[in-house]
Amino acid sequence: MDLSQYIKNISTAASTILEGMAVTFSHLFREPITVQYPEKLDKPMTEMLPPRYRGFLEVQMDICTGCKRCERSCPIECIAIDLVKDPATKKQAMSRFDIDMGKCMYCGLCVEACKVESTGAIRHTREFEGATATLDHLTFRFIPEGLVPLYKAPKDLSEVPVGEYGPHAREARERGMRDNPAMLEELREIWRKQNQTGKKKKGGKKQAKVTIDAGKAEKIKGNVVASPKGDVEKFARLLETLTAQTDCGACGYPTCYDYTKAMAGGADYDPSKCEPGGAEATADLGYAMDVYWKGPEAADAAAKGGGDAAAAAPAPAPAAAN
Ligand code: SF4
Ligand code: SF4
Ligand code: SF4
Repeated sequence: MDLSQYIKNISTAASTILEGMAVTFSHLFREPITVQYPEKLDKPMTEMLPPRYRGFLEVQMDICTGCKRCERSCPIECIAIDLVKDPATKKQAMSRFDIDMGKCMYCGLCVEACKVESTGAIRHTREFEGATATLDHLTFRFIPEGLVPLYKAPKDLSEVPVGEYGPHAREARERGMRDNPAMLEELREIWRKQNQTGKKKKGGKKQAKVTIDAGKAEKIKGNVVASPKGDVEKFARLLETLTAQTDCGACGYPTCYDYTKAMAGGADYDPSKCEPGGAEATADLGYAMDVYWKGPEAADAAAKGGGDAAAAAPAPAPAAAN
């Protein structure tokens, strides 16, 4: 190496070092960009996150139809929804809506299913703070007590009163931190029982077997027998009263009436499609269809023979009575 090249190398090294040091030195006079979290923030951290941030899930219960699309679309079974008949209103209502945020992988599949096909009741929020000593605290219960009625969605889903994102997740998190894990012991007992009865079997229809109540069967029978054969609309309206009547669309039809009209017209023989109605609606619809298409004696025999009304779906209709 000649002398000029040697001097050039030294000069390049010196200027590079000076350049680097200049950047370092300039930081001595800049405002720090790190913040003391959480004490010294100008505004809550959640407000600084992007709007589409995938934080904790929340459910706005007053616009939830109980259609269970979210529960079905979750690949790892984080969501648990239970529906029962409300003794006061005699209508289906939700008794449980739990999300295990400790297990959730934030994939958003449940949110998409609800947003595209239902009301957008379940959604990600920008809430994220869930530091806890045990994951049990992160089971968010959106129905802390009592029953929540099912929301009947407008047909075009245009006027669903979607509220602010965040408060439901915050409330559920606070309850979780306060009430779990003692509450979870109770839940686990419920899950154990459900698994024993086959209600939560992986895959397939998640319906328990229900035997139709004798008094109710008599009432349904009387109404069906009084319904003139061939009057599809009348029979469809009667069947509609046996569904959950939320027009949630989980059965694959836009409204309850569309579903029951297909059944009454002989185009659909499956009484097990009403998701919010659950096993009870399946049993009631199956029994009513049996009375209509097979006759009261055969319907009673089928009802006594087994409780699984889905299995006891009516035989193919004699003719589509449109
Ligand atoms: S309305 Fe949405 S949140 Fe409610 S059960 Fe259906 S999919 Fe789930
Ligand atoms: S975000 Fe994904 S993993 Fe979490 S509850 Fe929804 S579907 Fe399940
Ligand atoms: S019949 Fe269909 S639309 Fe009506 S509540 Fe049941 S699943 Fe929803």
